[in-house]
Amino acid sequence: QAGEDSTPGNGKKVDHVALLRQAIADPTKVVIAQTAPAVRVALGEMFGMGTSDTTGRLVTALRKLGFDYVYDTLSGADLTTMEEGHEMIARLNAHLEGKKDAPALPMFTSCCPGWVGYVEDEAADLIPHLSTCKSPHMMVGAMVKRFFAQKIGRNASDIVMSSIMPCYKKQWEADRIDMQTPDGAREVDHVVTTKQLGAWLQREGIDYPKLDNSTFDSWMGLSTGSGALYGVTGGVTESVLRTVYELCSGQKLDKLEFPAVRGLQGVKEATVVIPVNPKGPLKNKEPLTLSVAVASGLEYAPPLLDAVRNGTNTYNFLEVMNCDGGCINGEGQPESDDPDIVKKRAAALYSADERAVIRRAHENPAVLQLYTDFLDEPNSPLAEEVLHTSFVEDGPELFDWRLAIDGESGNLG
Ligand code: SF4
Repeated sequence: QAGEDSTPGNGKKVDHVALLRQAIADPTKVVIAQTAPAVRVALGEMFGMGTSDTTGRLVTALRKLGFDYVYDTLSGADLTTMEEGHEMIARLNAHLEGKKDAPALPMFTSCCPGWVGYVEDEAADLIPHLSTCKSPHMMVGAMVKRFFAQKIGRNASDIVMSSIMPCYKKQWEADRIDMQTPDGAREVDHVVTTKQLGAWLQREGIDYPKLDNSTFDSWMGLSTGSGALYGVTGGVTESVLRTVYELCSGQKLDKLEFPAVRGLQGVKEATVVIPVNPKGPLKNKEPLTLSVAVASGLEYAPPLLDAVRNGTNTYNFLEVMNCDGGCINGEGQPESDDPDIVKKRAAALYSADERAVIRRAHENPAVLQLYTDFLDEPNSPLAEEVLHTSFVEDGPELFDWRLAIDGESGNLG
């Protein structure tokens, strides 16, 4: 049945689509959707459109379903790149300065809950390597519940935040007790997968291929090509490299693409030399060679982690995605018999990046405005409080099961 989903860990069924339909029908609620990059290139496959970027139709479809605002998780990806990029710079500086308590390098990405859960459960000794950044959709949820609610004069509990995502692990992430506002509102209430959204649209009789295009709502709806890359393996690394290189060197990259981190190989490596810039945030006195590795699929992580433990690699940054090929191949994506489906979805996202007017996260004017209006600067105390978290051995002690217990969205008492 469309929308029925098992919330991991409590053994109860939660029909997130049914709960969202209830919320949409409730005039006291403001219901918001955000959509991940992998969703827009795969949803059309369920409607005979092949693999193509259908972003404009997707926004229209969500409005037709009754969502009050439609935001783009890509803007959360740009925010993540800003936070994670500055966290990376701070870690590098601590090592360049020889600080005794310098935070761990290589820094691991933290945007895939499958990977984060693996480190918490199977490699807890390496938790200090994980970036403390929340993932892009959780950053959007945190910003909406903390600041957008204020902006429209509503309480966080009046807002029902939903994420259209390529996997079920994002629901596990949203249920974490550390993903709540200080007054106990969930930052993301519901996660609906690409497949579930497609089935919902079919049940409502919405003819997806015939929909007109429309655009995201503006507050968190402006995104860059960098954000689109988050849907494919190596994309987080590429986005962070663009931003860290340009912010640190003060120079524009001649070529924004990093082919060495693209493709479906299990492990990819790249190095980038950052020139000295006395006015930049990086305290390098000579050109710094930044070394990165990308694992496309959790099965490739253990040897890399052993190399980190043994000190036999020199990586500064390690990206791991649970799914082979990245989020485009998540278990919530439409099934396909096409052996090249992952390549086709990746090509659609790379094309979205190439076509984008802005292709660097640090040039996203909407994200820069969020710092001006609310967050001050990347990694500021408020940004740390809202956009970062702590990862712990065996995961958080508590998960928020209230959706499974009473079938209603609300705050923990
Ligand atoms: Fe989900 Fe897979 Fe993407 Fe990880 S890589 S966030 S498990 S779809």
